[in-house]
Amino acid sequence: MGADSLYNVYLDNNATTPLLPDVLEAMQPYFMEKFGNASAIYRRGREAHLALKRARESVARLLGCRSAEVVFTGGGTEGDNLAILGMVQPGDHIITSATEHSAVLNTCAALEKLGCEVTRVAVDGEGRIGPDDVRRAVRTNSKLISIMMANNETGVLQPVEEIGKIAAELDIWFHTDAVQAAGKVPISVDRVGCDLLTISGHKIHAPQGTGAMFLRRGTPLKPLVHGGHQERGHRAGTENVPGIVGLGKACEIAYTGLRDGSTNRLREWRNRFESEVLKSIEAVGINGGRAPRVPNTSNIYLDYIGGEALVVALDEKGVAASAGAACSSGAREPSHVLVAMGLGSERARASLRFSLGKQNSAGDIEYLIAVLPDVVQRLRNISPVYQRSRSSASS
Ligand code: PLP
Repeated sequence: MGADSLYNVYLDNNATTPLLPDVLEAMQPYFMEKFGNASAIYRRGREAHLALKRARESVARLLGCRSAEVVFTGGGTEGDNLAILGMVQPGDHIITSATEHSAVLNTCAALEKLGCEVTRVAVDGEGRIGPDDVRRAVRTNSKLISIMMANNETGVLQPVEEIGKIAAELDIWFHTDAVQAAGKVPISVDRVGCDLLTISGHKIHAPQGTGAMFLRRGTPLKPLVHGGHQERGHRAGTENVPGIVGLGKACEIAYTGLRDGSTNRLREWRNRFESEVLKSIEAVGINGGRAPRVPNTSNIYLDYIGGEALVVALDEKGVAASAGAACSSGAREPSHVLVAMGLGSERARASLRFSLGKQNSAGDIEYLIAVLPDVVQRLRNISPVYQRSRSSASS
């Protein structure tokens, strides 16, 4: 491995992913040569319109829906806001979970202030929601269930198919945030039984600020943005054609990766990393390790260490990882996801997320396996709590 690559091991792909070269190449003509407004009827407009149509088909293939059911958005946060705010009104009850992304949790909290009721279903020690708990949460005014497909911090997959069945049986709309599931596990909106599903481009190697929502035909969504008739009136505003083209290309690549098994490589590397860490470092564990998870994510606790200190120490070794969700880094609060799973705040603060992407190699994981034990030991050696635990163990 060359010296350069030692300083470039990016393992924070759940925060964002780099554009893939094919995605950039697909987008490039739409900045200058093919710059038309997709609503214009002359050639340049038609060119842009056709590009949107193709991208819509690629998104639809990845999600297993019709292309007429795809609405382009400006990313995961916007999609989650649209899916939730667009489906309820004051007096309605929403069921969500304690471990959702802030895009869902804070939208629900804002709605609570406007007169909606919200139930946040608890998770078990592995971060899983019990479908029966969702059923028990249902009230006569329950209008929407919003439960994520995969958790951004732990990669834990929720039993969305069972929840979808409950929603259909009880006639409640069902939204799932699939931002961290898209491209990592196969998705079929019919199998999930959801009415709305959101994805984000920059988690699947497309540009930041791009995204899409599946909106099942007949679902009565109110738009958030008013203006022109773009996106069949669901999301007004001139479309981001280059970004959408990039999203479409990234969906094609994701679809191929799920079919040809290349996504499984990430699972092998992740599993190898975890088994090596468990062997070579004491007082560690995998958060959500016994639950079904997306293949690319590993969230581990390393007792006696501050996650943020470890992020900084690993950065010095050229490894990018994350302590808690990117959106809350800098905040001193322990991760709400890990706390909801029952971790004490010390252990939650001692947790780190490594997340792989398509650009990673086996060498990246070998490098991490090689450097992590020393970095951890160095930090533990200067931790008074660790020293005390050692001396009490030896006395
Ligand atoms: N939902 C989940 C599960 C996420 O992980 C993220 C981003 O981290 C979002 C929503 C927000 O997506 P975006 O960054 O595209 O706004």
